[in-house]
Amino acid sequence: MSIPTTTTTTTAARTPLHVTAEVLSVKKVGAYHHLTLVAPGIPERFRPGMFVAVSVGGEVAQSRLARRSFWIHRVKPVGGYGATIELVVEAVGVGTRWLTGLAPGARVEMTGPLGRPFALPQEPVACLLVGEGYAAAPLFPLAERLRERGCAVTLVVAGADEAHLLSALEARRSARAVTVVTADGSVGSRGRVADVLDEVLTRSGAEVVYAAAPLGTLHAVAVAAEAHGAWSQTAVEQPLTCGTGLCQGCAVPVVGEDGVARLVRACVDGPVFRGDRVRWVELIGEEP
Ligand SMILES: Cc1cc2nc3c(=O)[nH]c(=O)nc-3n(C[C@H](O)[C@H](O)[C@H](O)COP(=O)(O)OP(=O)(O)OC[C@H]3O[C@@H](n4cnc5c(N)ncnc54)[C@H](O)[C@@H]3O)c2cc1C
Repeated sequence: MSIPTTTTTTTAARTPLHVTAEVLSVKKVGAYHHLTLVAPGIPERFRPGMFVAVSVGGEVAQSRLARRSFWIHRVKPVGGYGATIELVVEAVGVGTRWLTGLAPGARVEMTGPLGRPFALPQEPVACLLVGEGYAAAPLFPLAERLRERGCAVTLVVAGADEAHLLSALEARRSARAVTVVTADGSVGSRGRVADVLDEVLTRSGAEVVYAAAPLGTLHAVAVAAEAHGAWSQTAVEQPLTCGTGLCQGCAVPVVGEDGVARLVRACVDGPVFRGDRVRWVELIGEEP
């Protein structure tokens, strides 16, 4: 199996920036808002699997302490502005409601790109990408990078219902084969990601599996990948406070390369972890 390795970058290229970003557009698509922002320097440093930590503010003064984290979904040029970033935001609370209510021209403080990205395979192997809900966001730029390297990409896109499927149409352009799963059966197969994993892993012959989803699904993917002899990488969402490693508030239990169990920080040691290294039962307290 070709073991994925992280691309070498210079220290300057790895250093996150603190910038004042400008909102260019906010579009509602299904259950999510897609925000396009000019965030100088962040697109150039971005690699799939990295995120930004956003200060939410305005009238929500009490929410300013903890930044809110968001995957970078896309980096794309917009005429007259150069490279922009796109975030996909589900409004679930005070900070995300503030963010999704912003108008074009609004300014937002953010730090990024943060975290360790997905490692890419050295050879053009078959890859399976499994995404659920908004968490699928980092898989789309990953699919692009993998295709550039000649990898055959198969995608599983899942959500509670049609409104919670992220970019299902784009998924069909990004991959050789796409399996859609919804909990209510409104599109694709009815059920959970776990129900289709064996079949998709067999059909795709994937040697590397990437997953970005709620913890229970990540666990199921890590277990299924291992059973099929595939290498898995999982993008773990642990609520983050500082996003820079200082507060130690986003502990993830793992087994290190030395075989010793320890706690690491999701924000700087992750958020992408090898699926077989995370101690899932301890992290989420349940079997898939
Ligand atoms: C690395 C990373 C990447 C993320 N990427 C995205 C993204 O691309 N799009 C997106 O919409 N959200 C993303 N999230 C989750 C997002 O950060 C939270 O939903 C957000 O912080 C909630 O802020 P709020 O003020 O709106 O909600 P709050 O009022 O703080 O909380 C509202 C509800 O959301 C829950 N919640 C808060 N943080 C999280 C979390 N991290 N995971 C699960 N539940 C949480 C709370 O327990 C509460 O029930 C990401 C989180 C991490 C750690």
